[in-house]
Amino acid sequence: MPEHDVLIIGAGLAGQRAALAAAREGASVAIMSKVHPVRSHSVAAAGGINAAIAVTDDWRSHAYDTVKGSDFLGDQDAIEVMCREAPDEVMHLEHIGVTFHRNEKGEMDLRAFGGASAKRTAYVADITGQAMLHVLYEQLMKHHETVDRYEEWFTTSLLLDEHGACGGVIARDVRSGEMSSFRAKNVILACGGAGQAYKPTTNGLIVTGDGIAMAYRAGAPLMDMEMVQYHPTCLVETGILITEGARGEGAHLLNSQGERFMSKAAPNKMELASRDVVSRAEQTEIDEGRGVGPGGTGIYLDVTVVPRKRTLEALREIVNLGRDFAGVDITREPITIRPGQHYIMGGVKTDVDGRTSIEGLYAAGEVACVSVHGGNRLGANSLLDTLIFGRRAGEHAAARAAGTSFPDVDWKAQLRRDMEMIDGIIARPRDGRRVSEIKSDLGELMNRHAAVFRDEAGLQTARERIDELREEADRAWIDDQGTVFNQDVLGALELGYMIDCAEATVVGAIERKESRGAQFRTDYPERNDAEWLKHIDITRNGDGPKVSYSPVTITQWEPEERKY
Ligand SMILES: Cc1cc2nc3c(=O)[nH]c(=O)nc-3n(C[C@H](O)[C@H](O)[C@H](O)COP(=O)(O)OP(=O)(O)OC[C@H]3O[C@@H](n4cnc5c(N)ncnc54)[C@H](O)[C@@H]3O)c2cc1C
Repeated sequence: MPEHDVLIIGAGLAGQRAALAAAREGASVAIMSKVHPVRSHSVAAAGGINAAIAVTDDWRSHAYDTVKGSDFLGDQDAIEVMCREAPDEVMHLEHIGVTFHRNEKGEMDLRAFGGASAKRTAYVADITGQAMLHVLYEQLMKHHETVDRYEEWFTTSLLLDEHGACGGVIARDVRSGEMSSFRAKNVILACGGAGQAYKPTTNGLIVTGDGIAMAYRAGAPLMDMEMVQYHPTCLVETGILITEGARGEGAHLLNSQGERFMSKAAPNKMELASRDVVSRAEQTEIDEGRGVGPGGTGIYLDVTVVPRKRTLEALREIVNLGRDFAGVDITREPITIRPGQHYIMGGVKTDVDGRTSIEGLYAAGEVACVSVHGGNRLGANSLLDTLIFGRRAGEHAAARAAGTSFPDVDWKAQLRRDMEMIDGIIARPRDGRRVSEIKSDLGELMNRHAAVFRDEAGLQTARERIDELREEADRAWIDDQGTVFNQDVLGALELGYMIDCAEATVVGAIERKESRGAQFRTDYPERNDAEWLKHIDITRNGDGPKVSYSPVTITQWEPEERKY
């Protein structure tokens, strides 16, 4: 059986950064991913990464903007770590080969992004994630003697010893269907978010909350799960993202009367207010009958105000997206967009070194909740989060491995259970519904009741329906009975993970009886610091979720009214 000091599940930016950091500390490392690493969802990141690099900028300003963006729910110790370490991390990326855009003076160029008080977003046109992910993968190649790669292996569960410490995982080789166990002194979850629990979403098909659900099932608390980000500019039909970089370059948002309605909601920052504020303003325009497009369900994003040469240079990917997916030349006419599910601020609760409550289990990136994003993430802070906390988790896990032995895990029993579970799915009679139908219902349910605006009745409906969908999912049948690239069976497992994530989101949203960040309760429209300036933690209790609270860490910025 393979054995490693540090085993990382997930090969997006968080996972690859963790692997490189742990390898540099001298640990024996392995990285596992259900898809080829450069197909990880980080590849889709478009607009850029934040760091206070400009000589006129300061990490404290970045930290304050992040705290304010989080609607004061972010933990300020973690935010300080992230923003203080950001400039060195971005310069490190540039030194290892990321071709960040440069200005006419030859300096690294920085673009404006939402909620930021200065231009501090470094970028590679609108393919920043792709550029970063490929460079990190090159670096992994350089470490091929110390970092083993399990590419196209799907993790099915975590291995725990009798004291509850994590000692490895069970996984299935996607190519052959072979099941295997992997021992590790430390496991780092870097499995990304859970956007596919919503429909539509900007997230790819592989973003199904696997890591969040595996940690939850193993007993780790989830935090801030009610905080789900709706991005203001997604294509109406498909949910495909039009990067915030467009508004950073100066694009306007217009309603059916041609008004730049952001002047009402955010007179100072206009289109570059934080995402929760912009999405709410758009949804209000739509709900009050000032939307555009079929059924008035959209808003115009007008990129024609950006000089065409600049659009073709700095936003070239969305020029292609507009043409291919909406039939619109964005350099010549407005494109119709609306708010769409994009990111989850919540995840597996960790400290600033990525440690979870389970000994030997770490989490970093979108799967985790440190919490640097609190109630609302600022654009271009997620790539930063993946790198800073991926690196810190890798370093910490490597150091821990040096002083610890392999936990004694009963891998045979868990391997047998997971094999029986998969055999059971394949053998299901065809009398229930298909996985894809249940998944579609779940996504639409979440988009209806746990979106930009929420209320008790809608959330309770969602809660009840999720229970029904869980029962149906346990009986859902699949077509493919084979072993080679059986994505059908993996889809059934992913559906279970998504249902766990959706349940935690809805339970958290019901619990939080106030409006803060991305959670806007029409029945509790005010922020209520006296009662709700606290995190909601959700753990598994028997079969159902159990709610508890933890304090928000405040270091230097007292909560204040949030205006843009
Ligand atoms: C369209 C789009 C544009 C974005 N643009 C930006 C931007 O400009 N700036 C910014 O800061 N943020 C941006 N974001 C957000 C950001 O890209 C993500 O939050 C971030 O890349 C997540 O990285 P990650 O490493 O945590 O996870 P991911 O990159 O999603 O990687 C997850 C990894 O886990 C693996 N995995 C998952 N489950 C399993 C399993 N069961 N077994 C084995 N492996 C598994 C996957 O194969 C993958 O390798 C954007 C997001 C989207 C959707």
